[in-house]
Amino acid sequence: MYEYTSSKRLFERAQSSIPGGVNSPVRAFKSVGGTPIFIEKAKGAYLFDVDGQKYIDFIASWGPMILGHSYEPVIRAIQQKAENSTSFGAPTELEVQMAELIKELTPNVDLIRMVNSGTEACMSALRVARGYTGRNKFIKFEGCYHGHADMFLVKAGSGVATFGIQEVPGVTAGTAQDTLTAPYNDLEAVRTLVQTHKDQIAAIIVEPVAGNMGCVLPAAGFLAGLREICDQEKIVLIFDEVMTGFRLAPGGAQQKLAIDADLVTYGKVIGAGLPVGAFGGKKELMERVAPLGDIYQAGTLSGNPLAMIAGYTLLTELKNHPEYYQQLEQKGAYLKDHLTALFKEADIPAQINQFGSMLSIFFNAEPVTDFLSASKSDMARFTRLFHGLLKRGVHLPPSGYESWFLSNALSQSDLDQTLEKVKQTLQEL
Ligand code: PMP
Repeated sequence: MYEYTSSKRLFERAQSSIPGGVNSPVRAFKSVGGTPIFIEKAKGAYLFDVDGQKYIDFIASWGPMILGHSYEPVIRAIQQKAENSTSFGAPTELEVQMAELIKELTPNVDLIRMVNSGTEACMSALRVARGYTGRNKFIKFEGCYHGHADMFLVKAGSGVATFGIQEVPGVTAGTAQDTLTAPYNDLEAVRTLVQTHKDQIAAIIVEPVAGNMGCVLPAAGFLAGLREICDQEKIVLIFDEVMTGFRLAPGGAQQKLAIDADLVTYGKVIGAGLPVGAFGGKKELMERVAPLGDIYQAGTLSGNPLAMIAGYTLLTELKNHPEYYQQLEQKGAYLKDHLTALFKEADIPAQINQFGSMLSIFFNAEPVTDFLSASKSDMARFTRLFHGLLKRGVHLPPSGYESWFLSNALSQSDLDQTLEKVKQTLQEL
């Protein structure tokens, strides 16, 4: 049985100096209860906590650890780069190489700008869409999360959904009134909004495969329908690929699902675990960004050399090994098939939503296709599964409203051990 003595002590201490003891809310285990596990180090598919215990990791730093933790080429590249200083505030060749590599992997990105987080990427992309169209409103989907900028914290997913926050104090009514929301996968609702607010909508922003209300797949025709509506109404289509970019395919969801967005946002994955984001897309939009154009956007540490070399090294590995994507897909499908069978045998209603290396378990008898159906899942049962697995050495994301992220460092034995531990937990569910 796992003991969390040192984690408990640290969590206690952390709460005196950090709000809730954590620097990002979902980490606090607030919805599942208990003490968050403080991590000492990680290697491959495993986390090691401050009490010396080992966990099979299904968080993968919420996405970036596609090839596992402490990936040798990335760590070596960061070490070497750090010898030349950590930031210059002036351009480097590496930033050019990074932009060229992303363009090569994502063909419809003509120009790309680096930022420092997914939040920054999404707020900047929306500013470009608003500046370009001269319109104020935009549509987002219930349960999707695009970072913590004010205008996105309306019916948002991730921690906002996990903690059941209806309205975020500090987001003004003036800001929120320009955020229109529709249920995910509901094209009719989008059409109605577009007609009601004709010529006022700058952008539709969407997670092409949603990961912030748990993993929810786009229904057949949903993304193509959005593309069509945007073309007809001259609305900018933004794909938020902070989770899906370079994870579902080298060219992200755009490539995997064969839909071109006008603007696309990236995040954590392109920093291989260092703080990075990016937004890019069609030339006519991106050439409006300062200093080329008048839509201002900036960042002192944007294009930071350590973050760039980490991301460049990871993306180069992914580019050179297309087989990794097949392997990730196989691992995801294997878990889905076996989890489905396990819960069926145990007569526990469950939906396993999986797309490539993203996966979620919803304890729900009905298919989960949007936020409403996700929220009808038995979250108390998820909590029991979470703790049942944690004490057996498997670390899931600590919320039923989050996606699991698989890394290619997971071996067949890791997957089978995980399934075996789920089996052991069934009695407790
Ligand atoms: N968009 C999506 C789809 C995300 O999943 C996230 C973070 N989980 C963000 C934006 C915000 O990224 P960050 O936390 O780096 O600001």
